Amino acid sequence: MKTIKYVVAATFAAMLAGCAGQKQTNTIGIDLANMDTTVAAGQDFYEYACGNWMKSHPLTAEYSRYGSFEVLDENNRKQLRELIEGLASKQNEPGSLAQKIGDVYNLAMDSVTLNQQGAEPIKEELQQIAAMKDKSEIVPMITQLLNQGVGSYFSSFVYADPKNSDVNMFQLNQGGINLGEKEYYLDNDSATINIRENYKKYIVKLFTLVGCSDAEATQKMNDVMEIETAIAKESFDAVQQRDPEANYHKMAYADFKKQFAGFDWDAYVKGLGIKTEIADLNVSQLEPIKEVVRLINTLPVSKHIAYLQFNLIDAAASCLSDDFVNARFDFYGKVLSGRQELSPRWKRAVSAVNGMLGEAVGQMYVEKYFPAAAKERMVKLVKNLQTALGERIDAQDWMSDSTKLVAKEKLATFHVKVGYPDTWKDYSNLDIKKDSYWANNCRASKWALDDNYSRLGKPVDKEEWLMTPQTVNAYYNPSTNEICFPAGILQYPFFDMNADDAFNYGAIGVVIGHEMTHGFDDQGRQFDKNGNLRDWWAPGDAERFNERVKVMADFFSNIEVLPGLKANGQLTLGENIADHGGLSVSYLAFKNATKDAPLATESGLTPEQRFFLAYANVWAANVRDEEIRSRTKSDPHSLGRWRVNGALPHIDAWYEAFNITPNDPLYIAPENRVKVW
Ligand SMILES: [Zn+2]
Repeated sequence: MKTIKYVVAATFAAMLAGCAGQKQTNTIGIDLANMDTTVAAGQDFYEYACGNWMKSHPLTAEYSRYGSFEVLDENNRKQLRELIEGLASKQNEPGSLAQKIGDVYNLAMDSVTLNQQGAEPIKEELQQIAAMKDKSEIVPMITQLLNQGVGSYFSSFVYADPKNSDVNMFQLNQGGINLGEKEYYLDNDSATINIRENYKKYIVKLFTLVGCSDAEATQKMNDVMEIETAIAKESFDAVQQRDPEANYHKMAYADFKKQFAGFDWDAYVKGLGIKTEIADLNVSQLEPIKEVVRLINTLPVSKHIAYLQFNLIDAAASCLSDDFVNARFDFYGKVLSGRQELSPRWKRAVSAVNGMLGEAVGQMYVEKYFPAAAKERMVKLVKNLQTALGERIDAQDWMSDSTKLVAKEKLATFHVKVGYPDTWKDYSNLDIKKDSYWANNCRASKWALDDNYSRLGKPVDKEEWLMTPQTVNAYYNPSTNEICFPAGILQYPFFDMNADDAFNYGAIGVVIGHEMTHGFDDQGRQFDKNGNLRDWWAPGDAERFNERVKVMADFFSNIEVLPGLKANGQLTLGENIADHGGLSVSYLAFKNATKDAPLATESGLTPEQRFFLAYANVWAANVRDEEIRSRTKSDPHSLGRWRVNGALPHIDAWYEAFNITPNDPLYIAPENRVKVW
């Protein structure tokens, strides 16, 4: 069970970043040209604050969402490209980081070789899978594929025991359904049926690309769908996965083997190269793993052959010839996200280097682009936010003094990470050779798996970074009670060294407050200051907390994001609480910081107004309908529009700043507003 919380969805998060302060701004930081003042603030604050930004940044064919995060992407990718191409154009010493970075990039860029090779890089392995005769061969094949980064029926990893956070533990997690969410296999609304039918076409297409006849490909597609649908039926949905206790089933390895008999677990563990003895483990979700064991023992081997082959082709497709790349994009890019055009090859190549050698690229990046002064200012901001959250905790009239005391202890023990890690990952064991792009991808996956499995039997490394420094994102990790702000997010429009406090508290300040509040959202509050899943709340306090946040869940569940499609207030509850807390805490910190020297009104905007405008502009974005639909199903974050128009009407100070009255459409009566943190 991993419960790390980001400020934007990790899978969609910008993976590249750029230099702090690349945009020179005035002291107020806010670009007035972004505003659409023909719309009243109380009517639609999102349009008022950044409507003109949306008009002047229309979606291009390449994007399904284009917003502040993607703008940073574009800038930063160019900077990373320069760094990487600087190495790729030279002869580098074999085995050096420069050689590895340069060679991965060149392999990804070499379309002639990729198109000549076609399916060749995976041919032999496909034949090995096809040669399986007996179910006893399935487990060794699962681990053989996993050792190349090809996942299948479920996932396994080493991570802190949720109830004993200093100790690393082997954990099993549901998986094996390539559409990600179970509803795609089970729901029968027209949008879902359309996605499912296109997914089937995609599976058929991949099999025909590796040489199957139409009839064979269709048969294999049916086998894949049978297995994935069976696993989907037993899988937890995204809301169930948010409940830490419901996803915790620690057991002795010996008992586990009895309970999940019919699968050679010893062969599985050995196949992964794990040498440390496993005494106990956590099976995050029992039912889907049981279902996998049942499927392996009851379905003919031929169906498992089809399923494993599909997982291999699907995983490799983006590293093969253009026909595979395009087939993959036609489904995941066009159908699922509404994108119209594949990104240029150089962008995909930069992402590949970033994925395989993330911290090596990150080290070059921070040396060139991350100023030490940015870190100093961030550390100070974090301190001020910590003080403000302490004051907010004290001000909660529903919480008992004993719970407040422990909450403030937890707040005081936050482990804060800013910019980049003190020690970098060592890639000396990762060989980058000139055989094929896919083969290098496999070796990089194996390197990452070994890095993870090698942690078994060792104490949890609390200094490890779960994001690369060039990532435009931030996170809270409940099991280490840490908040982390990579260098990538410490730039405009989140952070601006030249701008005043109204801007920086409204933008990066709310991000800091957001991550801190995750320690006290509906999930994070269940972990103590040491990162252990343990109830530390006095009797009655949890019930009162739940009553209060139910207002939030109900409010968001009523928001219509597309005609006929409502947001999921339960799925987005933790993130919405974090936005609410982030706004409240950062606003208080802003007031504290400027109380002796209040800021002046500038360009007709009060400092309080500028705080909220800076916040809204972080979420400026255009999003395609397909992407809205997909995120509503799987993303625990609300859409940018609702992180503004849904969150602000619960903040009292916003009403004062813009003189919002009961006549305004966004108005919520004080007694109906969320009152927590
Ligand atoms: Zn978050």
